[in-house]
Amino acid sequence: MALVVQKFGGSSVSDATAMKRVARRVAATRRAGNDVVVVVSAMGDTTDELLDLAAQITDEPPAREMDILLTAGERISMALLALAINAEGVEARSYTGQQAGVMTDSRYGKASITGVVPDRITRTLAEGQVAIVAGFQGVNDSNDVTTLGRGGSDTTAVALAAALKADACEIYTDVDGVYTADPRVVRSARRIPRLSTEETLELASHGAKILHLRAVEFARRYDVPLHVRSSFSDLEGTWVVNPTEEEPLEEPIIAGVAHDRSQGKVTVVGVHDEPGAAARLFTAVAAADVNIDMIVQNISHETHKTDISFTVPEADVAEAVLAIQEAKDTLAFDDIVYNANIGIVSLVGAGMRTNPGVSATLFGALAQAGINIEMISTSEIRISVVVESDRVDDAVRAIHTAFGLDSADTEAVVYGGTGR
Ligand code: ASP
Ligand code: MG
Repeated sequence: MALVVQKFGGSSVSDATAMKRVARRVAATRRAGNDVVVVVSAMGDTTDELLDLAAQITDEPPAREMDILLTAGERISMALLALAINAEGVEARSYTGQQAGVMTDSRYGKASITGVVPDRITRTLAEGQVAIVAGFQGVNDSNDVTTLGRGGSDTTAVALAAALKADACEIYTDVDGVYTADPRVVRSARRIPRLSTEETLELASHGAKILHLRAVEFARRYDVPLHVRSSFSDLEGTWVVNPTEEEPLEEPIIAGVAHDRSQGKVTVVGVHDEPGAAARLFTAVAAADVNIDMIVQNISHETHKTDISFTVPEADVAEAVLAIQEAKDTLAFDDIVYNANIGIVSLVGAGMRTNPGVSATLFGALAQAGINIEMISTSEIRISVVVESDRVDDAVRAIHTAFGLDSADTEAVVYGGTGR
C-alpha cells in the first residue's frame, strides 16, 4: 500500500466526460489499496476565461480580488471531481488550498508556498476517503487566498507530496511524458524515460511546458519522485528523479531541446563604456523586479560607447524599459529599442559537462540550416541561442536531428492542446 498524489491538469478535466475518465482512474488507484490525494487544475481554459472577463471590466484590478477570482476555477473542478469519484462508488472529499493547509506568502498572483499543514488531508485518508485538493492556491498570513502563478497546480501537488511523504507524485497531462522536443514542433520527438531534476529545471525554465518550475524545485529539495504521464493512456511516462552517488542515472549526453517564444530582446544603444555602466543599468532593471536571462555587450569602438542587449519575458518588457528610461540621467545612453520577434532555443543535457564538441555540433546545425544566431548563453548543462521568431521551429528541428534525437518509428501523440 502506497500514498500517491495524482495531479490532473486542465485538459484532463476539460468537460464532464473527461472528469469521469479521471474519476475512474482515481477510483481504480484507491481500489488497488493506495491512499490517494488528488490535485486538480481548472477545467480547460477556465483560468484564461476568468482573466478575460476581468480585463473587460478593468485594466487595473486589485491583486487580492484577482486571486479570489482565479481560485474559483480550481474550486469548480474539485467539487465536480468529488461528485464523479463518489458516483464511482469511492468516497471522496474536496478541499480548497486553504482547507488543505497550503500556506503562502502574500505576493498575489505569484505567491510562494511557505509551508503545508495537511492535517485535514491526513484525517481524510485515515478515514479511507480520497482527498481532492484545489491546485494553484493557498492562504496568506492575513487569511486571504492567494494564487501560485500560471501552471501552479503542479507545485501544489509536489508540495503536498513532500508534506505527506508520498511515495510518488503523478502529474497527468495531455502528452505521454516529457519529450526530447515539443511534439507539436518535432513530430519525431521521443519520450524521455528518466530525467534528472537538474535537467528538468533547465528544460522547464527555458520554455518546455512540462512542469511548473517551482514544482521541480520542490521535488529536488524534498526528493519527491515525479511521474509525468498522460491521463488519456496507460503508458509509462517520464520519471523525474534526483540522481545520487549510490543511484546514478544512466543518461544520454543530450536530454532534449526546449524553445521559448515568450521572450523579447531589449537593446540599450550607446551606453558610455566606462566602469560601473552595466552595474547601474542592471541595478535599475532589478529594482523593477524583472528577471533577465541572456546579456550581450558589444565591443566598444573609438566612440567609447557600446550597445548592451538582454532578454526578458515579454510581459516584463514595459517595466524594464521604463526602469531604464527613468534612470537615464545616471546611466547615460543614446537610445533604447525593443524587439519582440525573437525566440530562444536551448539544448540541455547533463552529459555536456564531460563531452566536448557539443557547441560545435549545435552551431554547425544552425549554420547548415541558414539560421542566424543573435545571442548565445550557456550554463554547465545548457546552450541557448536567440534566433528570429520565424526560425524557431527550424532551429529546434535542425538541432534535434543533429544530435540524433529523432525517433525512427513512433510519432508522439498529442491528446489535448495546451501542453498542461
Ligand atoms: N489553472 C491555473 C492555470 O491555468 C493553474 C494550473 O493549471 O496549474 O494556470
Ligand atoms: Mg491550466
